Amino acid sequence: MKKIFSIGVITGIIATFLMGENAMAENLTTEQKSVAEVSAYTASGNQTGLKEALIKGLDAGVTVNTYKEILVQSYAYCGFPRALNALATLMQTVDERGKTDESGAEPSAKPQGSALNYGTENQTKLVGAEVKGKLFEFAPAIDEYLKAHLFGDIFARDNVDWKMREVATIAMLAVRDGVESQLDAHINIGKHNGLTDDQVNEILDIATQTKAKNVIFGFGKENPYSQYFTGKSYLQPITTDNGVPMFNVTFEPKCRNNWHIHHKGGQILLVTSGRGWYQAWGEEPRELKAGDVVNIPPETKHWHGAAKDSWFTHIAVEVPSEGGSNEWLEPVSDEEYNKLK
Ligand code: MN
Repeated sequence: MKKIFSIGVITGIIATFLMGENAMAENLTTEQKSVAEVSAYTASGNQTGLKEALIKGLDAGVTVNTYKEILVQSYAYCGFPRALNALATLMQTVDERGKTDESGAEPSAKPQGSALNYGTENQTKLVGAEVKGKLFEFAPAIDEYLKAHLFGDIFARDNVDWKMREVATIAMLAVRDGVESQLDAHINIGKHNGLTDDQVNEILDIATQTKAKNVIFGFGKENPYSQYFTGKSYLQPITTDNGVPMFNVTFEPKCRNNWHIHHKGGQILLVTSGRGWYQAWGEEPRELKAGDVVNIPPETKHWHGAAKDSWFTHIAVEVPSEGGSNEWLEPVSDEEYNKLK
C-alpha cells in the first residue's frame, strides 16, 4: 500500500476529529503572539519596540481595531499615561503606513441595563466565581469601578474576545514588577477562558524577552562568539575605542559561556538585570542579581551566564592590559549546570 500520510499527520487528523480543532491549537496564533508582544511593550513604555511590534503585526494582518481595543484596555493595567502613549504610537504608525491597514470589526452596541449589572455578570463568568473579599468591603468604590467600568464598559466591547484580552493582560502584568499576585490571578483567568499551559508559557516568554530588550544600553545582535556559548546570547558593544572596551551581554534562560580565562587583563561584570551565575574553577558558584559586581582576576578559569528560569544581562568591562587575550575552554556540562537552582 502506498504511504500517503505520515503517522504525524494521521495522528493530527484523528486528534482534531476527537477533540475539536481548538484542542490542536497548542501554540498561540500569530494574532495572539502579536497582541502579547504589543501589550508587553506598552506596559514597559518602550515606544520604539512597540512601533516595531505593531508594524510586524499589521504586516501579518492583525487589524487596527484589535490593537486599539487592547491599548484602551491597557489603561486599566498600566495607567492612562502608558495607554495614551501607546495609542499615539499606534495612530502615528497607521498614518505613516498611509492608512492602508484593515480597520477590522467595531464592537456591537452596548448591552441593555446598567454597566454595574452586566459588568458583575461578566466578571463572574470570566473568573468562574463571584469576586468578593475584604479589600472590596474596605474600599467599595474600587469594586464598583472594576465591575461597572473594566468588566462592564470595556469587557462588553465584543470585537476582541476575552481570551485575547487575557493574553494582553498576562503580558502586561508579566513585564511589571510587584504585581505577582495579579499575574497569577490572570494566568488562572486565562486558563479558565481556554488558554493552555503552553500558551501561557509562550506569553510569559514573549514578556520576558521584551523586558530583556528594554536594557538600558541596548540588546544588540546575536553574539558572534556563539560557538563558545551554550544557548543564545546577544552582544551590544557599549564603547570600544578608548582602551577600556565594554559590552552589554544578554543571556536567554539556561544560556552560559564556556569555561574561559582572561589572560593578563581580567574582567569586571556589572549585573544590570535578571538572575544568573558566576563560577571560578574550584569554587562554589555565586548567584547574581542586578547591582552585583564580579571582579575576575587575570588567569582565573571561570564561566558566567543565566539561571535556568531567567534572562540575565551584565556589562562586561575588559580590563586593559598589554597583550591580553581570551582563552576559550570546554563548555559547562548540563550535569554541572543542572545542579544550580
Ligand atoms: Mn569572563
